[in-house]
Amino acid sequence: MTRLILATRNAGKITELRSILADAGLPHELIGAESYPDIPDVKETGVTFAENALLKAHALARATGLPAVADDSGLCVDVLNGAPGIFSARWSGHHGDDKANLDLLLAQLSDIADEHRGAHFACAAAFALPDGTERVVEGRLRGVLRRTPTGTNGFGYDPILQPEGDTRTCAELTAEEKNAISHRGKAFRALVPVVRELLG
Ligand code: IMP
Repeated sequence: MTRLILATRNAGKITELRSILADAGLPHELIGAESYPDIPDVKETGVTFAENALLKAHALARATGLPAVADDSGLCVDVLNGAPGIFSARWSGHHGDDKANLDLLLAQLSDIADEHRGAHFACAAAFALPDGTERVVEGRLRGVLRRTPTGTNGFGYDPILQPEGDTRTCAELTAEEKNAISHRGKAFRALVPVVRELLG
């Protein structure tokens, strides 16, 4: 069986993507980058989700000789012209401080009226082969931003994004409910035929 390597050391993300890819009928074995502890993390120097996802996938494919999958994602707010975007994880200046990032964004949007609080999560999923072949696809989850965080599931900005057509925030959805509609779920399901085409 062909092995694919995923550019993350996050066990939760590997489990989530394994289940998305298996549900989509992809027979390949997915391993995490933690299987190669000596490979350094790639600097995300791109200015779009797609560029950063491709940077990570190419670096991993080159270093391991395996077909590699990588993603990059974030929250894009309409009235902020798409920000925080690629800066979502470090919006407050502290990388990965979900609470500080969310609190800062809510403060910045405090006087924005309900009808102008549209936003979407975006995810680029990239696939690269060791010979440099590359593909990238994107997925989005549209919604509106609440004023008060609600719900305890998920991570990041989940407690404030209410998906279109729902009355709950992403942090009130189960993992299965979120996977079915999420930017990451959509991007990785779109990647399945691409992987099939290139690997057979
Ligand atoms: P990364 O793609 O894992 O680097 O995620 C970038 C950042 O975007 C995260 O730290 C979160 O702040 C935000 N983000 C991306 N996807 C989601 C999501 O599904 N829910 C909530 N926040 C997200």
